[in-house]
Amino acid sequence: MTTIAHKLQEVRTRIGAACEAAGRRPEDVQLLAVSKTFPAECVLQAARAGQRDFGENYIQEGVDKIAAVRAALPDQALCWHCIGPVQSNKTRLVAEHFDWVHTVDRPKIAERLSAQRPAGLAPLHVCIQVNIDGGPTKAGVPPEAALELARVVAKLPRLTLRGLMAIPDHAPEYIAQLSIHKSAKAIFDQISALREPGLEHFDTLSLGMTADLEAAIAAGSTLVRVGSGVFGARSYRAA
Ligand SMILES: *Cc1c(COP(=O)(O)O)cnc(C)c1O
Repeated sequence: MTTIAHKLQEVRTRIGAACEAAGRRPEDVQLLAVSKTFPAECVLQAARAGQRDFGENYIQEGVDKIAAVRAALPDQALCWHCIGPVQSNKTRLVAEHFDWVHTVDRPKIAERLSAQRPAGLAPLHVCIQVNIDGGPTKAGVPPEAALELARVVAKLPRLTLRGLMAIPDHAPEYIAQLSIHKSAKAIFDQISALREPGLEHFDTLSLGMTADLEAAIAAGSTLVRVGSGVFGARSYRAA
C-alpha cells in the first residue's frame, strides 16, 4: 500500500470515528482531498485508492493538474473543487475546468461564473464562503450577508447553489473549534430551512480541515477538506 493510500485510510477512520461519536452516518460526510502543491502523481495514487473528490487552491496549478490527471486516468470521473480565492480574471478558468467552487463571496464573481460556464457542462456547484470569525482582512461574506448572496446565486442559470463554506482561524482547543463551527452550522440551518426556489440543492456545509475535522463533524459539517492528513506536509512555493 502506498503512503497516500495508507493516510487516506487513516483519515477515513478518523471521519468514521467522529461520525460515530456525533451519532451521524459516515456516508453523510464527504472527504475532499486537498492536493494543492502536490503533483498529479499524488492525485493518481489517491484516485487509485478510491478517492474521487479533490480540492485545489491555486487556479492555474489546478487546471494543469486536472489535465494531467485526466490524461493519465481517462476512464475515471474525478470531481474537482476550487477552494481558493477567485479573482475576476480567473473566473473563466474555474467555470471551464472545475465541477465545484467553494469560495464565492460576491455577486460579480457568481455572475461571471454563470455566464462563463460552458453549455456542454453541467451547472457549476457553488458554496458561498462565509467569514465566520469576522476578521476584516479575511475572505468571505459576513454571516449576515450570506442569505442575500445565496439568493443571487440561486437565480443564476448556470450555477447550482450547494451550501456554505468557512475557514475559521486555527484554534488549538476542541471546544473553541466546536463553537465556531457551530456558528457556521447555524447560518447553514437558517438558509436551508427557507425552502425557496433555487435552494433545493442546498445540502453542503464545507467545514473542517486536517486539524479540526472532528469538531467540524460534531458541529454538522457534510464535507471536510483534508490536505496534509492525506498527502503529508506541504512545502510552500510560489504558485
Ligand atoms: C489548504 C486548505 C485545506 C487543507 O488544509 P490541511 O490543514 O492541510 O488539511 C482546506 N481548506 C482550504 C481552503 C485550504 O486552503
